[in-house]
Amino acid sequence: MKTFDLKAKRPLIISGPCSAETEEQTIETCKQIAATGMVDVLRAGIWKPRTKPGSFEGVGLKGLAWMSEARKETGLPFGLEVATAKHVEAALEFGADMLWIGARSTGNPFSVQEIADALKGTDITVLVKNPMTPDLDLWVGAVTRIRNAGIKNVGLIHRGFSAYGASLYRNNPMWHLAIEMRSRMPELPMICDPSHICGNRTYLQEVAQKSADLYYDGLILESHICPAKAWSDASQQVTPSDLETLLRSIVWRQSTA
Ligand code: PEP
Ligand code: MN
Repeated sequence: MKTFDLKAKRPLIISGPCSAETEEQTIETCKQIAATGMVDVLRAGIWKPRTKPGSFEGVGLKGLAWMSEARKETGLPFGLEVATAKHVEAALEFGADMLWIGARSTGNPFSVQEIADALKGTDITVLVKNPMTPDLDLWVGAVTRIRNAGIKNVGLIHRGFSAYGASLYRNNPMWHLAIEMRSRMPELPMICDPSHICGNRTYLQEVAQKSADLYYDGLILESHICPAKAWSDASQQVTPSDLETLLRSIVWRQSTA
């Protein structure tokens, strides 16, 4: 495990497939992403929080072995979502470099506390996604539980808030709430997740640029060697080559902090 200083690299770019599906898809995607030279951390979902049972729920432990292999082949660290103490233990055992709490878990104090307890005694970097509901106290509370467990390297991911009804995006960004969150915890880096805000490929670039204009500290973007065939979040993933084009187009502002 690499201790990851979130403030050492700005913008911090995380990318990889929504889900690890097969060994070949995981490793090939990670290799092509690494070859862009523009990504700092690899990602892949191993346990997937699906809305309804019967959908693909992740490959589990074997996916961790694939990510560990991807790290060996690319030299890049990797991170993933954890939702239970068992996930934390397995991810640490496989040497994950970074963990994050998904939007569904952030909204559940029992889950966050379970994760925090499992993290005690480690110094792994932990990112906390905003909860599904636009409730900043829940987000602050989750961060506080993780910090109370002794985790020092903590960051935020803004992935938009669940909204009923038609919208341009799958999740409502509610930028003003993310800005208020920053003012509540100004010492924490905040990265944007355009993939889960948009739920499509069309607006990824403009959402990513908007976050850069708002002085965010980085991006997490889903990428897949064959997005149309992805087993989860097919409509929002981009090929590693399109990812590179997108990343090259973003103009980052100097932090004023
Ligand atoms: C994901 O990263 O694939 C994911 C499920 O994210 P979120 O928790 O933001 O929905
Ligand atoms: Mn996803």
